[in-house]
Parts: sequence; C-alpha cells; structure tokens
Amino acid sequence: KDAEQDYYEIARKLSPIKHIIIIMSGKGGVGKSTVATQLARFIAFNNPKCNVGLLDVDICGPSIPKTMGVENEEIFNSASGWSPIFVDDNLAVMSCGFLLESLDDAVIWRGPRKNGIIKQFLRDVDWSEQLDYLIIDTPPGTSDEHLSLVNYLKFCQNVRGAIMVTTPQEIAQMDVRKQVEFCHKVKLPIIGYVENMSVFVCPKCSKENYIFKSKSTKFTLEDKYGIKLLGRLPIDPLIGKSCDEGKSLFTDDKVLDNRILQAFQDLWD
Ligand code: ADP
Repeated sequence: KDAEQDYYEIARKLSPIKHIIIIMSGKGGVGKSTVATQLARFIAFNNPKCNVGLLDVDICGPSIPKTMGVENEEIFNSASGWSPIFVDDNLAVMSCGFLLESLDDAVIWRGPRKNGIIKQFLRDVDWSEQLDYLIIDTPPGTSDEHLSLVNYLKFCQNVRGAIMVTTPQEIAQMDVRKQVEFCHKVKLPIIGYVENMSVFVCPKCSKENYIFKSKSTKFTLEDKYGIKLLGRLPIDPLIGKSCDEGKSLFTDDKVLDNRILQAFQDLWD
C-alpha cells in the first residue's frame, strides 16, 4: 500500500512533464550515455523554448556529470526539493554522481538502497521549469535500477518508452533482444533503437569503413523484431572528445560530420 502511495505521488509530481524517455542498452560501452547526453543537448540547442531535463540513474557508474561537463558541481536541497544543475537556460541535469562522496560506496549498494535513491530522484528533484522532455539514462543491462524505475513510473501517463542503444556487433544486438524481452515483460513501450558506431569515415579519403561488420541491425532488430531503427551514428573522434570534455556536439555545425547531425535529426523526428 505504501508503495502504491509512492507511485501516485511520483505520477503527480512528474505529470507536468510532456514526454519521459528512457535510454537503455544491453551492454556497457556502446554509447548509451553519449546518446542520452547529446540527444538532450540537441533538443535543447535546437529548441530554445523547450525545457529538457536529463536524469542519470546509473548508481554504480554515473557518467553524465562528466559528459555534461559539470563534474564537480554540488546539489542543494531546499524546501522545494533537490535543485538540478543547469547546463544551459533550458537544460538541467541530475545525477547520482552529484550525491556520492565516493563512487566505491555505491558499487556495494544493494537493491533497497538503490530503490530508495531512485524514488527520491523521481519524487524530490525540483526541475523548476515545466519540462518538455525528461531523458533518463540507465545503467547497462537490466538491473535493479531498471525494475525500480519502471515500477515507480507505473502510474505516469507521460512515459513514451525506451530508446535502445547498440553497436552493429552481434553480441550487442543479442543483448538488445534481452532488453526487448524485459520491456515486454514490464510493459514498457519501445520507441526504437539507435545504431552507434555504425561506420568510420576515413578523414583522409572519406572512405566508409564498417568496423563492426556483422549482420545488419536493420535485418535482425527491425525486420525480425519489429524495433524501429531511429538513427545511425558514425564513430567519430569528435564524439568521443566532446563527451570526454563535457561539451556539446552541436554548437559548431561546421566541423560536424553531416551523418552525426542526420542521426540526431532522425532520432528527434
Ligand atoms: P555507455 O554509456 O554505453 O557505457 P558511453 O556513452 O560512455 O557508453 O561511451 C563509451 C565510450 O565511447 C566513451 O568514451 C564515448 O566518448 C565513446 N563513444 C561513444 N560513441 C562514440 C562514437 N560514435 N564515436 C566515437 N566515440 C564514441
């Protein structure tokens, strides 16, 4: 009964948000946080009137503070809740990384404690502006965090679903299928998937190299499993650099490979 009370409270708190989107990946290192970060930046940069929130519920390995360039910020708690960190006028970030003194602590946290912090994140963050988008970055795989999150969002009408991130490698695609099963089980709609690191374009001769050449994800994931391909993101040193330095990819379009813009445009559409 207490739990149900929490679900209602969270649904009420998050009800002004127009769209809640959950970013997932079957494996670590496929670029999930990169996609979550740059998607939030892309939307906020191209739509100044759109308020975007990015929430990182990866308790054991929060990387959003770094990819957003706000690593050493502190979170303040006031009567109206935890204030997120504003990266831009219309882009706010909240991550477990801001709260953890030492990440080593979190690694040994068990389910109930993780559950507690996710509940607080959903219920107690004061986004201040009415958000158009809340993008939630989750840990790789399907863990306690995913179950908690989906449970707590049970009564929210504005959860649009999950976006999966994968590389073309067969092993990553296999893990996406596991995630799809999870989503079906917990009745979380799947918006589609992003194929990251799909191609590397030689900076000298512009030849396209398919580094992770394996069965096309379009064939395995879209045709066979009916999950929509939302966009393809190339391997580009600029993407790695912007995440390492916590910068936006979109402030200087001139240096940006058109494929990157296209991928985010496709994803956004
Ligand atoms: P995940 O969240 O899935 O664990 P990350 O987003 O942290 O993965 O990405 C892993 C590493 O790969 C990071 O260093 C990131 O900057 C880099 N990376 C991700 N996508 C690309 C890409 N398309 N091109 C170049 N580097 C990338």
